[in-house]
Amino acid sequence: MADRQYRYAQIIIDISHEKLDRPFTYRIPAALADQVEPGSRVRIPFGHAVRTGYVVELTDSCDLPEDKIREIGEVLLPGQGYSREKDSGFYIRLASWMKERYGATTITALKTVLTSRKTGKPKIRRQIRLLLDRDAAEEKLAFYHQKHQVARERLLRELIGTPVQPYDLITTRLHVGTPVIRAMKQAGVIEVDSYTDLRNPVSVSPDAAERKTLSPAQQRISDAVVESFEAGRPGVTLIRGITGSGKTEVYISIISRICRSGRQAIMLIPEIALTYQTLLRFYRHFGDRVSVINSSLSESEKADQWERARRGEIDVIIGPRSALFTPFERLGVIVIDEEHENSYKNESMPKYHARETAIQIARMRGACVVLGSATPSMESYYRALHGEYRLFTLDERLTGGSLPCTEITDMRMELRRGNRSILSRSLDSLIRDRLERGEQTMLFLNRRGFAGSVSCRSCGFVVKCPHCDVPMSLHRGGRMVCHYCGHQALQPKTCPDCGSPYISPFRAGTQQIETWLQEHFPGARILRMDADTTARKGSYEKILSAFANEEADILLGTQMIVKGHDFPNVTLVGILLADLSLYANDYRAAERTFQLLTQAAGRAGRGTRPGQVVIQTYKPDHYAIRLAARQDYEAFYEEEIRYRSLLLYPPAGHMLAVQIQSRDEDAAMLTAGMIRDLLQRKTAPAALIGPAVALIGKLRDNYRFVIYVKDVKYDKLIHCKDIIEAHLRTADLPARDLQVQFDFDPVVPY
Ligand code: ADP
Ligand code: ZN
Ligand code: ZN
Repeated sequence: MADRQYRYAQIIIDISHEKLDRPFTYRIPAALADQVEPGSRVRIPFGHAVRTGYVVELTDSCDLPEDKIREIGEVLLPGQGYSREKDSGFYIRLASWMKERYGATTITALKTVLTSRKTGKPKIRRQIRLLLDRDAAEEKLAFYHQKHQVARERLLRELIGTPVQPYDLITTRLHVGTPVIRAMKQAGVIEVDSYTDLRNPVSVSPDAAERKTLSPAQQRISDAVVESFEAGRPGVTLIRGITGSGKTEVYISIISRICRSGRQAIMLIPEIALTYQTLLRFYRHFGDRVSVINSSLSESEKADQWERARRGEIDVIIGPRSALFTPFERLGVIVIDEEHENSYKNESMPKYHARETAIQIARMRGACVVLGSATPSMESYYRALHGEYRLFTLDERLTGGSLPCTEITDMRMELRRGNRSILSRSLDSLIRDRLERGEQTMLFLNRRGFAGSVSCRSCGFVVKCPHCDVPMSLHRGGRMVCHYCGHQALQPKTCPDCGSPYISPFRAGTQQIETWLQEHFPGARILRMDADTTARKGSYEKILSAFANEEADILLGTQMIVKGHDFPNVTLVGILLADLSLYANDYRAAERTFQLLTQAAGRAGRGTRPGQVVIQTYKPDHYAIRLAARQDYEAFYEEEIRYRSLLLYPPAGHMLAVQIQSRDEDAAMLTAGMIRDLLQRKTAPAALIGPAVALIGKLRDNYRFVIYVKDVKYDKLIHCKDIIEAHLRTADLPARDLQVQFDFDPVVPY
């Protein structure tokens, strides 16, 4: 509660509409005075209805006549002011920063940052406990090994290291299924305990908890971050380091040093990349002071974790981007692992980026930010090279395992030699070899961002827009459209570059390839993982468990197989259609391709045996492919930044996508044209492109148009947004359902 009492509250009504996007004044009844604070959710009369809203400010005086002011009816949830004047309003200020920077109504920004605080029944948690002593366990392990009971062996080995572990961790991340757990329980090897309190999720034997001595390179990074934090210059640090180079160990060191002084830490990880080993390492270091948030938690379980954070029961939280809003008043550090990942961008309003938001939160809290990646985003590397971030590089694999040997095969040559199959001859024979040796293969079909672009199978030529240098996509009737500027052309009958008739949209799906593989390698056990086979709940984990248990020889899948899984028996990774993601009509296509290929290649040879990678492509000379095969990040960056600078794409410039939509096509088109004229007259940015029909021109009966604004200065784009917003507040719009959304520096094409 605030130390003094205020008479009025400024309240944002829970209706997302431009015209209502301002605070309304209400009187605070004496009975509620100690519950109303910034962030409180309240019920209030509004017009003829009763609505909910958020308190954003408390005031003593008010310009309105006393009899015009209505009273707050009820307080639904207290604010997040922690009853302390100092922190009161933190999230209100953060929401207003978000609204300003990303363009959203105040209410959507508030709902994003003010995490829900419902609490439910305490959930029953389960843990798996090893019953055998060391010798008996070792004996059992040898038995499982001899019987080739791979899942049992895997679980037992992990329990010998850490004898008590959370049930969920075992089933989801260690890929051990419930039948195996049941069988081991019946055999008296393990016990499953249930409990409802928030105890330490793992029990640690002392030697397992022993901290590793950092290498000199790791120590330098940890020292630099902690020392400048302590000296009051927190700042942002980027660590570029290949997988296995020791980044996570550095995060752990930084977090524990900063937490030792009573501060708190947020660690963001793209959920899919969070492996069993990584989670266990955090549990071992931070025990019950760490909490992990993931999508399998219900709303009330998440709320429980926020509550624990608020009460100061935990110091470290690990989770996806929403973990940023954990109520940590004494926040000292935010770590973002795999900082290049797209999942850090919120794709609904407000379209915030977790990296930028983390930096803002850190600035407001006096905390430092640590970013890490094997393939940093162009944005972060650009800032690091320009001195905005500190940059460190780790380039040795600590696990010893050597980098896989990578080969590029030119599919144009294969075609010329009469090979029309999906596999190059080289990949074909390598797969046969693995089948014979009983080793596993992963086949990755690169279809990311692919939206019907047209290419030549003889020379690799891709039909691009003459105005935007992005591939055009094919629509019905052979019409090709550029989704950046609206330029149209007819699909060519022969390749404009080499005259070959093999010019067509490439349409191979995982299912067709699976059928083909099955016929081609009779007897091979094949698993397929794509949007279809993982649609049912739990099927994703099932497929991965089956593959981990060596129930299949080949795992075929889309990009979802690329991340975060370590299968020691995989010694071959094949990348089919490596260049397909280059044809996405998106200025980030080359960057994404480079990241995907580098990541996919990293899947091979995680165990003791060396790995091999084959990249099949029609564009062996493209820099994204050539340099990914060499794992040469810096050379890639140099090439890519040249292209971005030339066309003023981020990070060399900034870009704002304005999306206009309505069920009334004419109304949407008219408004889009009007917005363009408005921007032209009032702001004259460096480039104004469109309006064009959006990539998905019609979605759920809404017609969608897009305008792109580019400029070197972000502020200029904010100015453009402000002008559009001001206009929408006052103008008579041609349709009631008309919506305008903003996306700054978009990571997906519109
Ligand atoms: P990354 O996060 O870059 O993939 P990790 O921190 O996971 O790298 O380190 C890779 C492997 O090396 C892990 O098994 C880790 O336990 C081990 N490791 C990391 N740092 C050290 C160290 N200083 N001494 C010994 N082993 C280390
Ligand atoms: Zn051609
Ligand atoms: Zn164009």
